[in-house]
Amino acid sequence: MSYDLLFDRLTIFTEKQPDKTAIGFLRKDGEPQLLTYAQLSQRMKQVASFLLSKGLKAGDRAVLVYPPGLEFMTAFLACLYAGIVAVPVFPPNPSRRDTLRQFGLIVANCQATVALTCQEYNHLKMASNIRERLTTFRAVSWPEQLVWIETDSSYNKNVKAAAPYPIQSQQTAFLQFTSGSTSTPKGVQLTHGNLAHNLHIITTELKATDDTIVVSWLPQYHDMGLIGSFLGVLYCGGTGYYFSPLHFLQRPSDWLKYVSHYKATHLQAPNFAFALTARKLESPPSPLDLSTVRHVINAAEPVTVESMEAFYQATHPFGFPDNVIFPTYGLAEHTVFVCTNGKKHLSVNKEVLEVEGNVELAAGDHATTLVGCGYPPDSVDLRVVDPQTSHEQPEKVVGEIWLYSPSKAAGYYNMPEESARDFEAKMEGSDRGYLRTGDLGFVYENELFICGRLKDLIIVGGRNYYPQDIEATAEAVSDMFRLGCTAAFTIDTNRGQGEEVALIMEIKESSTPIQTCEDLINKVRAAVNQEHSLALAEIILIKPKTVPKTSSGKIARAWCRKAFIANTLQVVHRKSFRVNNEG
Ligand code: ATP
Ligand code: MG
Repeated sequence: MSYDLLFDRLTIFTEKQPDKTAIGFLRKDGEPQLLTYAQLSQRMKQVASFLLSKGLKAGDRAVLVYPPGLEFMTAFLACLYAGIVAVPVFPPNPSRRDTLRQFGLIVANCQATVALTCQEYNHLKMASNIRERLTTFRAVSWPEQLVWIETDSSYNKNVKAAAPYPIQSQQTAFLQFTSGSTSTPKGVQLTHGNLAHNLHIITTELKATDDTIVVSWLPQYHDMGLIGSFLGVLYCGGTGYYFSPLHFLQRPSDWLKYVSHYKATHLQAPNFAFALTARKLESPPSPLDLSTVRHVINAAEPVTVESMEAFYQATHPFGFPDNVIFPTYGLAEHTVFVCTNGKKHLSVNKEVLEVEGNVELAAGDHATTLVGCGYPPDSVDLRVVDPQTSHEQPEKVVGEIWLYSPSKAAGYYNMPEESARDFEAKMEGSDRGYLRTGDLGFVYENELFICGRLKDLIIVGGRNYYPQDIEATAEAVSDMFRLGCTAAFTIDTNRGQGEEVALIMEIKESSTPIQTCEDLINKVRAAVNQEHSLALAEIILIKPKTVPKTSSGKIARAWCRKAFIANTLQVVHRKSFRVNNEG
């Protein structure tokens, strides 16, 4: 079956509804900037011509370095329209070494010769500062000539609109870099065909038609924000209103203010955002009407019942409908979306799950609650596979999630070995080349449950612990910890005793007295011991906002481990319970 390409849909909607708002950007204080379908299409063609006039050719890679806004969206579409491979990136901050390093690695990996940006970013002297600072990294082979082009400077010039590049579905549309939760971000090579299938299943599963209105603050360079919140809107002919992630973090209630004002129907956010918004909604700025919302995706990180419940409770007085938040699963290697419409909450025996990898319903102290993510549509072949033997697992048994569908990406750009390993996995008895997701989960009564990442799994004494469970127990000990800023990971004892577990936790106040820190650490250790029968070897309280996270806000446990080993954590207080009290 073939699926409509994005540009075919965009052309239809531009002809059918030229004056309808396609996208809008909401500034924190100020007038919204809006583009109709006709305006967006015209700008896109203008920028495409401008890029071609600058010597860019189809197939060239261009990194997109933009602050949140319409300029990014226009340039992204312009690249695809002209056959240029867009590479959206987190706009690096020259004063933050980690962001610069990541930027350098991405540019080197995709061999981009051009960086597209806008006047706003360039006027802050970001581009020239980046250039200067990056030459100090010896580890990164920096292309001599990265040319910076301001795409919004094209509007004043007399450039003729370009004709579209003849797009084929197997051609690379753009590189979607993964978040970098488990290693350096990898450039997933997405074709127009991948995009068409994924946008088809997203809009079908979400029942998103041209009356769809999205309000989103998700990062535009991340798959969920870019494809889910932006391209999905254009694919169904709806309207999207966007604002910056920083704005959301500073004033979470603005999300709901905009939902109410623009009568949003579809929302997308990671789990932490629901709890955060609920906490900050005690004094809403004005009466809200949230009754227009029909489908809310909760994805990109483990989903908890608590976060959704808190959101429902806080928004209930404003008409937010029941049962519209749907746990959803996805990943960049599968374009973005896998499945949604999760309904079931399963209470299962924690020990049986951790020791045997089996699902046994249970209640009480020994139980843990898992949230279902629904099941993909027929065009996606999902299997749960034993990662060691490559045998398919039966229902209710944990294994690695493998996928095969037209959304399966072409591979990682410039990484043939990793691509062969992750995109062409063979299941016992099948010739299909499956995508290994690296995620563990199981199917229960036709619903997929995600347990955690294979790479982050903590194995101690033959038992599998999922780090997010330990982190949640630790954070619940006191409100002096910053929520969602804790990481549990294994450390090698080097003494032949197997692995031990370290926990780093951000504390709200760096000046917390030592005795209070000691008490907190002891309480955390006792709670984890009681809940999980696990004795933590190291507990380290660190300064607020210093736990290693990805640019899309996910905990990066592998980086936490590296910082722990390199002794670069910004420690407030630490305690070791290791046998020889080392480290
Ligand atoms: P990297 O691949 O660079 O380590 P990443 O895996 O976080 O980073 P993304 O592709 O942005 O990069 O995120 C997809 C991952 O997010 C999934 O593989 C899964 O681990 C996690 N995830 C997505 N949805 C869910 C969910 N509903 N529950 C639990 N985890 C989820
Ligand atoms: Mg990943």
